[in-house]
Amino acid sequence: MGYFIDVIIPVPLQKLFTYSISSSEAVFIKRGMRVAVPFGKSKIYTGIVARIHQLPPTAYQAKEIHQILDETPLVNELQLELWEWIANYYMCTLGDVMRAALPGAFILESETRIVKNKGFPIEEHMLEDEEFLIYEALQHQSSLKIQDVMGILDKKQVFPVINRLIEKGVVHLEEEVYEKYKPKLVRYVKLGSNYTTENALQQLLDDLGRAPRQKEVILTLFSLVGKTKKPVTVFNLKNESGASSSIIKTLIDKGVLEEYHIQTDRIQYSGKDTLKTKLLNTCQIQALDAVKKAFETQNVTLLHGVTSSGKTEIYAKLIEDCISSGKQVLYLLPEIALTTQLISRLQRYFGECISVYHSKYSSHERVEVWNNVLKQAPKAQIVIGARSSLFLPFSNLGLVIIDEEHELSYKQFDPAPRYHARDTAIMLANMHQTKTLLGSATPSLESYFNVKQHKYGFAEIHRRYNDVLMPEIQLVDLKDKYKRKRMTGHFSDTLIEAMRDALNEGQQIILFQNRRGFSPIIECTICGHAPQCPNCDVSLTYHQYKNQLRCHYCGYHTAMHLNCEACGSSDIDSKGFGTEQIEEEVKTLFPGYKVARMDLDTTRGKYAYDKIINAIEQQEIDILVGTQMLTKGLDFRNVKLVGIMNADTMLNFPDFRAHERSFQLMLQVAGRAGRTDERGSVLIQTYNPYHSILQQVSTNNYTEMFNEQLNDRYTYKYPPIYKLIKITLKHRDFNRVEQASQWLAKSLRQLFTEYVLGPESPPVSRIRNQFYKNILIKIPQGQSLSKTKEAIIKVNNSFFSIKEFRSVKIILNVDNF
Ligand code: ADP
Ligand code: ZN
Ligand code: ZN
Repeated sequence: MGYFIDVIIPVPLQKLFTYSISSSEAVFIKRGMRVAVPFGKSKIYTGIVARIHQLPPTAYQAKEIHQILDETPLVNELQLELWEWIANYYMCTLGDVMRAALPGAFILESETRIVKNKGFPIEEHMLEDEEFLIYEALQHQSSLKIQDVMGILDKKQVFPVINRLIEKGVVHLEEEVYEKYKPKLVRYVKLGSNYTTENALQQLLDDLGRAPRQKEVILTLFSLVGKTKKPVTVFNLKNESGASSSIIKTLIDKGVLEEYHIQTDRIQYSGKDTLKTKLLNTCQIQALDAVKKAFETQNVTLLHGVTSSGKTEIYAKLIEDCISSGKQVLYLLPEIALTTQLISRLQRYFGECISVYHSKYSSHERVEVWNNVLKQAPKAQIVIGARSSLFLPFSNLGLVIIDEEHELSYKQFDPAPRYHARDTAIMLANMHQTKTLLGSATPSLESYFNVKQHKYGFAEIHRRYNDVLMPEIQLVDLKDKYKRKRMTGHFSDTLIEAMRDALNEGQQIILFQNRRGFSPIIECTICGHAPQCPNCDVSLTYHQYKNQLRCHYCGYHTAMHLNCEACGSSDIDSKGFGTEQIEEEVKTLFPGYKVARMDLDTTRGKYAYDKIINAIEQQEIDILVGTQMLTKGLDFRNVKLVGIMNADTMLNFPDFRAHERSFQLMLQVAGRAGRTDERGSVLIQTYNPYHSILQQVSTNNYTEMFNEQLNDRYTYKYPPIYKLIKITLKHRDFNRVEQASQWLAKSLRQLFTEYVLGPESPPVSRIRNQFYKNILIKIPQGQSLSKTKEAIIKVNNSFFSIKEFRSVKIILNVDNF
């Protein structure tokens, strides 16, 4: 009898493919190893061995594998178990999961192109003969296809050679993006503490009479401080005084000047000293104890701590405990790019034990982290990363932390697997029989509900660290302001006044407008025509900076129209407003102040985001205008005022979570104000000051928000009470998708009766020339989720047996929120 393996390959196939192996291969091969396998007419894929057995496939003749690529499993048993859970729970294929889970460099396939790494010092003697041949070929050609490599080496089995070249950092795969994580170091100076008295200062200036250049530096420092009332960077001082670095260094060495870092958190980890974690205050100690106590009986615990209450320091203590027991820690963050501040902070405590993992890193870096985790290297004992880091080969996990657990970006929407990283990480921790800590100032309704149901443990902190008061939140009634003509553009007199006060005191301001662009919709005042995207069913957005109309769905853009396309009138008006317009208005209202904007458009470049954060920390920016990017846990010292330009667009968003989400967004932006000693203030402009969410935001009343929203969820049958599965159909032909969705909804309704909603066209019903229809299935408590899914799969199979429907694409999204 022969031997066979079932192999996961990174293509969306419902079933695993079976290949035949020899009996000696059967002895060697283990689950989780990579094999190169032929597929289709001429393709070769890297696959992962999922099963070894002796049952030949019945429907086809099993092909032989090309070769075995690993000596030991690259993917461990627990990971395979997790992959299976994901494929099951989120209704996707193991191939989908594999693509998301493994760094691209691990899954070479015949289509792959390899490119030489630039600027990587390569010593030729490091390379074996075959490796050298490829390296040499890449001196003459910018990239090589796998086919080319086969030609050069005159053999078929080339994946191992290429894998070695990737590990050595000689080549990478072509389509990969590079984005290195690089924290920044900023130096500031002030007068040394011995010279702050009048006398000492006089003495100093007299003494420096003999060193005119040094005296010049000191005088420049005074004038800079007097003029800007802001900390002075070494860079600035050098420029203004014309002094050399060595003169400034001399003054620092003498103790006349003192060097410091305004946000010491951003000091790059130098590979030497690490600091002790901070001593916790009473509130923090109580919360930490509560977490530990909850862990005795619960697998998951939620830490609800207001913004700036010091949750990160509590995480640090738990991490410390975990690594001292020799175990691994996974620290999940919603978006790595947005959290360089936090990473530097943890690096100061844990130095070399931290690895950062991110899908935008180069293949080499990702492969390195993967291998370090696999080997349980000390370097990767703590992994900080965005959602994909839960796929790393942990074998000794001791703690999972999920920071900002309410963030929507934990959910992957496209492509499959459409997994929620929070829920999947909890599953991962369970498989490792270890604990998960969720943290947030504004927990998701689901998590808080799980606390109320006693499924999760709970701990909380009500006060900010150092007893800094929560910001004072004031609502501004726009209707009233417009009526009494107290508006300048989109700014009420109240907001302008508050801004003026803050600026006069040298403080910084954040303005929040949850929409980028200048003004989303341009409309003809004569005939009402609004320019539309030709590919999508959506109005174009005006971007003043480039004088363009752009589609936010497909990227289509065109020059701004001077005349209405429909009637030719030049009376074109804008409706609504975005960040760009706010920026313009601020510049007119407050000339002479530095204004910057933070949104998707201004943070596209590699380090653009870091640059803006840096500039704010260095107080080079007085007013920052931004979208929800501003909410992501930033810790600025000198921001005292936050203005929310319009709360209503958020509240009116057509989604069952709009209210919960508005509450979270507003409290998170508000949390950026007054994080140090002085109390911050927040102004929210709105047409509905009596809206209950706004009342709850202004009194920071999470519990009331929770109770009210949960009531709504009961009434309208939404999560966390009901579970949701969304089915999306798409096709280029409107009639086809219409028919198909009717058929599908009808069939589902026979099983699930009133719990099937739709088919319905989404708000944007055509994207990239594909028409969309949605069907929503609600699953009441007590109805088996797995049985429901089985039934849906059955209906799906009958759907695809109908010839006209075969070309319709169906997307299943479990927990689609
Ligand atoms: P959160 O994560 O809850 O928003 P942080 O952990 O960022 O809060 O803490 C807010 C600020 O207070 C940070 O600047 C942090 O360094 C400081 N802080 C928190 N706890 C302590 C402590 N125990 N000792 C000293 N500083 C602390
Ligand atoms: Zn479009
Ligand atoms: Zn018109």
